[in-house]
Amino acid sequence: MSYDPSNIFARILRGEIPCKKVFESEHVLAFHDIGPKAPHHILVIPKGAYVSAQDFGEKASAAETQEFFQAIAKISADIGIAAGGYRLISNAGENANQEVPHFHMHILGGAPLGPMICRPA
Ligand code: 5GP
Repeated sequence: MSYDPSNIFARILRGEIPCKKVFESEHVLAFHDIGPKAPHHILVIPKGAYVSAQDFGEKASAAETQEFFQAIAKISADIGIAAGGYRLISNAGENANQEVPHFHMHILGGAPLGPMICRPA
């Protein structure tokens, strides 16, 4: 799948639409999810044009990859959810219902999150 530069996170990166930013570095931006599914729900995205976790894992540089996971750890510590625990989710592709085709990691925390997944009936 080729990268679609009109996706909503690309527009956030270009400053065309606003976000509630929580972290920014050379390769990474993080902001609050517009529809939070937990007391803390942050989206962490690379600034590079990667469609999904698969695309990022195959093509991102070591610096981008390292900075991405360091950002997750820093954000989780800074917002106070690291000690109690949190969940990372990255939906990739059709079976995972990925809505926005720019790689992103959801950080969810701040309360017990229940079972990892509910299988459709
Ligand atoms: P996905 O299903 O692709 O893993 O998740 C996409 C996420 O992006 C959803 O949790 C949705 O609430 C969030 N989202 C969609 N549009 C916007 C937006 O314009 N701003 C922000 N901050 N989050 C968005």
